[in-house]
Amino acid sequence: MECNTYTISANERVAHDIYALRLNGRTDAMVAPGQFINIKLDGFFLRRPFSVADWDENGLMVYYKTVGEGTRALAQYARGRTINALIGLGHGFDCGCSARPLIIGGGVGVPPLFALAKRFISMGIIPTVLIGFASGADEFLSSEFRLLGCNTIVTLETDGLRVTDRILEIQSAHDMYFACGPEGMLRAVHRICRLPGQLSVETRMACGVGLCRGCTCDTLAGGKRICVDGPVFRKEILRW
Ligand SMILES: Cc1cc2nc3c(=O)[nH]c(=O)nc-3n(C[C@H](O)[C@H](O)[C@H](O)COP(=O)(O)OP(=O)(O)OC[C@H]3O[C@@H](n4cnc5c(N)ncnc54)[C@H](O)[C@@H]3O)c2cc1C
Repeated sequence: MECNTYTISANERVAHDIYALRLNGRTDAMVAPGQFINIKLDGFFLRRPFSVADWDENGLMVYYKTVGEGTRALAQYARGRTINALIGLGHGFDCGCSARPLIIGGGVGVPPLFALAKRFISMGIIPTVLIGFASGADEFLSSEFRLLGCNTIVTLETDGLRVTDRILEIQSAHDMYFACGPEGMLRAVHRICRLPGQLSVETRMACGVGLCRGCTCDTLAGGKRICVDGPVFRKEILRW
């Protein structure tokens, strides 16, 4: 984990209530897709956690939804402004154990899956990406997954479809699933998909570094802090 200063090089709306934030600065602490950063916003005591959607040696991308005061304030931050963030937080996805990955995402759970898909592509593995949104106006990152070369399937609730409606027909072509999204979606995926899985659980979080224990969840291996023991957990360990 590192604490660094970043310069905003872009902060633009890319879908309904969704912004793409590009931060220039150090990324040495990033080791795995699924890790997150914790951003300090002026006037807010608690930092706000966001998954890293992509990173290179010059900076990183975050996609965030404006849901409350903090994210609405962040949406006003202009290009050139500096912000402080903790980076390299949490345990990310383990990509070494799948040759035929099925990536499943919903809404603002999709961003960390882009970094994951990119990692698989760099390993010569083409993942299937099954992502769902409430409507076409909420859809983001799907063209970027296609440009990467992923087999990309998008479901929209306005078409009467959810990602869970497509899992049964496609799961047999895969050996493991990797999921991130709203808890209701994750629980449904956990129940429906018969493959081994890794799930990123994005709960409400306070310190983000394991000290306050505010994000502890009950697992079959006892209480686990989502910020440091997760956010990615193996399917088998979750008591769902
Ligand atoms: C590990 C991790 C990774 C995350 N990655 C992303 C990401 O890539 N993109 C993104 O948009 N968001 C992500 N989140 C959620 C994001 O941190 C919150 O949406 C944000 O902190 C809300 O700040 P706020 O001040 O705008 O809202 P607040 O004023 O704090 O809350 C406003 C509303 O949002 C709800 N809320 C707050 N946090 C969460 C949460 N974690 N899950 C569900 N509802 C919440 C509150 O219950 C409330 O209804 C992530 C959270 C975690 C823990």
